[in-house]
Amino acid sequence: MPAALVTGASRGIGRAIAERFARDGYDVVVNYVSSAQKARAVAETIRTETGSDAVAVRADVGDPDDAADLVDATVEAFGGLSHVVNNAGVDQHVYTEDLSPEDFDSVMDTNVNGAFNVTKAALPHLREAAEQDTPDADSAPTPSVTNVSSILAYTGAPVECHYAASKAGLLGLTKSHAGDFAPEVRVNAIAPGHVETDMTADRTEAEKEAELAEIPVERYGQPADIADAAAYLRDAGFVTGETLNVNGGELMR
Ligand code: NAP
Repeated sequence: MPAALVTGASRGIGRAIAERFARDGYDVVVNYVSSAQKARAVAETIRTETGSDAVAVRADVGDPDDAADLVDATVEAFGGLSHVVNNAGVDQHVYTEDLSPEDFDSVMDTNVNGAFNVTKAALPHLREAAEQDTPDADSAPTPSVTNVSSILAYTGAPVECHYAASKAGLLGLTKSHAGDFAPEVRVNAIAPGHVETDMTADRTEAEKEAELAEIPVERYGQPADIADAAAYLRDAGFVTGETLNVNGGELMR
């Protein structure tokens, strides 16, 4: 069975992607950094409710050694690695005047360096997966990396400039790697709009009302909406270097 690694899969969007990939027939590594219990529960749910295997593995993706160990653990558990979703991310609401260089770096470390660290460690295994001569090699999706960016990569965000910068950086990383790694490995991004998770749970009712007024489909995104996009990009053999905007029409590009 092919294997996938989803970073930041203990909750929210990453959890939905891990569960979706498992339902689609992939063994999955559920990465987390601090929510051990939640990540183990996600892996347990996958094992009991799908025909796939799953393990929870702790790693701070911003640490290159942790990222390398995470990839090693994936290959050890499942014998190879076909798809990576760089979903782990952190957000912080601070105006630039109050933002310390350390906090700026810490968001960049997880959101951009983390994707770089995991992708770099995974690349030899993804290339190896591309070379494997399987009976249905012509129809099997080519190995892929999907980076979870954000609508804020395009719009910027006054109160979270480091987050917006990190998500814009991910789009540059995506295109660079798509060119570098072709034809063996495809690399794409997803730019979600507002999705209901822990990351957006602190909104006031007034903020929610204002946000919803900007979304033509008149609802927030759900983690499953992003999982649908991740499954599409995993399987879309002729799509690389692309960003799929999943935002309910909030920003039409
Ligand atoms: P979330 O609910 O806050 O979950 C974040 C996940 O990332 C958790 O699993 C967390 O693990 C993990 N994580 C954080 N730092 C990590 C690190 N250094 N190493 C490994 N894992 C780490 O966030 P979400 O809303 O699902 O967001 C997922 C992704 O979508 C993020 O990249 C986010 O920027 C992006 N996004 C979200 C929205 C939205 O509206 N929610 C919109 C656009 C883009 P622990 O549980 O162990 O802390």
